[in-house]
Amino acid sequence: MIKETEARILYDTESDTYSFKLSAPLSVCWQVTRKCNLNCLYCLSASDCNGEYGLTTEQAIQLIDGLGKIGVNRLDFTGGEPLMRKDLGILIARAKKNNINTIVTTNTLLLNKENIEILKMADLVQVSIDGNEIIHNYQRNANVFKRMITNIKLLQEAGCKIRLNSFIFNSNKQYVDYLMDLSKELGVFSHLFIIFTPQGRGRDHLEEIVPPEEVEQIKERILQRKNDEHRNVRLYDYSEYMHSCVLLTPRGDVVSQGFFEEDSINVGNVFDKPIEELFQDENFSHFTHVVHYLQRRNK
Ligand code: SF4
Repeated sequence: MIKETEARILYDTESDTYSFKLSAPLSVCWQVTRKCNLNCLYCLSASDCNGEYGLTTEQAIQLIDGLGKIGVNRLDFTGGEPLMRKDLGILIARAKKNNINTIVTTNTLLLNKENIEILKMADLVQVSIDGNEIIHNYQRNANVFKRMITNIKLLQEAGCKIRLNSFIFNSNKQYVDYLMDLSKELGVFSHLFIIFTPQGRGRDHLEEIVPPEEVEQIKERILQRKNDEHRNVRLYDYSEYMHSCVLLTPRGDVVSQGFFEEDSINVGNVFDKPIEELFQDENFSHFTHVVHYLQRRNK
């Protein structure tokens, strides 16, 4: 099936400037819940066991059908822990029915036979590992490293395509090579390195922001290994992709994400205004959205 998104280039004669506009987002990152079975130190969404559950199943289905209709290509189910929702399988199936590519980010700790079947429905499953056992358990606030590695292997055996996610912050920046070795050893489909951004609980840890000159060195190291080893490795730096990501909160608010939480802008709620209209808000960069999407699609 071919999905269409209209793209326009606008020229302002007064200021002699061009702008690039899409009719709708290509991808949406949806915090389906803010409930989580973990309570990680730097959690971007500040999730925990008391977090809000999210939309009802009926509202969520209505939302997904709307996304399908406007041509959204990819939907990232994130959280919180998406498996905390009892209807995750229904929602992934609905996205597939709408020909939307699905990614689920999970900490894997709720894995059981039934949940493996649900995750198998997704096009890609993302799991975050942030360092060796000590640093990972420290950041996750729990002794979970070994279980998560075991669960990644179980998911791979079940046929899931796995992307390892690794946040890079000051306390773990020396583990880049360790993490590259780990993803190689696990034989995961891809590895995404994300430069730490102080959002959610990360706001209380500004000391973990990696200085820009070191970020450049880290990027060079990752790219060098990626090229030398012909690896499927990606890098994401929030400071480069400001206001490109369409973030949907558990209650349906649409947020244009910045680097600091203070830079992020809530442009309205999908139950008050269609998402394609909210996406036209001047606080979204459609050009960066396209570049970001093309770089990350299913890789
Ligand atoms: S980082 Fe992920 S696993 Fe940790 S509390 Fe946040 S949502 Fe849960």
